[in-house]
Amino acid sequence: MFTLAIIKPDAVGAGKTGQILAHLEQAGFKIRAARLVRLSTVQAEAFYEVHRARPFYRPLVRFMTSGPGLALALERDNAVAHLRVVIGATDPAEAQPGTVRQLYAESKERNAIHAADSPENAAREIAFFFPERELRELAAPGAS
Ligand code: GDP
Repeated sequence: MFTLAIIKPDAVGAGKTGQILAHLEQAGFKIRAARLVRLSTVQAEAFYEVHRARPFYRPLVRFMTSGPGLALALERDNAVAHLRVVIGATDPAEAQPGTVRQLYAESKERNAIHAADSPENAAREIAFFFPERELRELAAPGAS
């Protein structure tokens, strides 16, 4: 099955992209699509729509539009749940040792990587970044 990740602008800007890609590959993920994206404010607002009422929404949109991020469609068995384990907790201070966020995140906001949190959101987010791809091929929830 597939999931969607974004190496966030903090990590891309700090030159950590290669190390994070290696970490993901070593965790068994295959990179099936990749795109360096500089989100517009409207795109970032839409992507994080679910957080619109939260106090960190405006700063989060500003952060996600502050520089390029690397959007990735990743394939592995149990990809969505497994990637959530591999990236670690939202706050790097709470992330398990050896997780991407524990290793590379700066703060709870500038936390290096995004990962879809459900198969449904993975499909929606893959379509958001890779609309040209055959969704049947790349984004069907539960596909293996
Ligand atoms: P995730 O699924 O682990 O990325 O966490 P959420 O979906 O809850 O939040 C989305 C993103 O908003 C996080 O990855 C952080 O970049 C940011 N964020 C979440 N909670 C906070 C917070 O309490 N403060 C700040 N400044 N940013 C936050």
